[in-house]
Amino acid sequence: MTGTMRAFVIKTVGETGVVEKPIPEPGPEEAIVRTTAALICTSDVHTVKGALPVPDGRTLGHESVGVIHKLGSAVTGFEEGQRVAVCAVTPCYRCSYCQRGFTSQCGGALGGYKYTVQMDGNMAEYFVVPAAQANLTLIPDDLTDAQAVYTCDTPAASSRSSLALSARRWPSGSARTTSWTSPRATRSNRSWT
Ligand SMILES: [Zn+2]
Ligand SMILES: [Zn+2]
Repeated sequence: MTGTMRAFVIKTVGETGVVEKPIPEPGPEEAIVRTTAALICTSDVHTVKGALPVPDGRTLGHESVGVIHKLGSAVTGFEEGQRVAVCAVTPCYRCSYCQRGFTSQCGGALGGYKYTVQMDGNMAEYFVVPAAQANLTLIPDDLTDAQAVYTCDTPAASSRSSLALSARRWPSGSARTTSWTSPRATRSNRSWT
């Protein structure tokens, strides 16, 4: 037991709330991330309305970024304290589906979508990243957490490729970025069309 955290959960169909849960501990291949920015998705709304069969009390959310709080013993190449984004889909990259490239179908139909459906989601002060070696993506220094969190739910690409693209061509002139303040992001936008 390492203390408790606040988590935004589905209490039952049609009802949500903030509850206290234990701060999770990482398994060997997992990481624990301390959340710094999170977004609500329409999938969360549909889940609360009963579209997905999830148990009462399950934490909602699958679009969060943060700082690595703890790393499992088998995770290498990352350090605690690094800023990371985590894609909404967190495949194992080992099963037959993943090995054939169908990572969104990890373990079976739509099985890559694990947050809330198969495990607690990440709209909490801390959250678990499964298969962390493959599912952690470092956030470039010139992107804020508020910018990076928009890559978590990109349907056709992972956070990793989206962040790489964003670091080069961030659309600062678009409506979705008008309140963002990174001067480096603004400078890199001159070639955006
Ligand atoms: Zn979503
Ligand atoms: Zn898999």
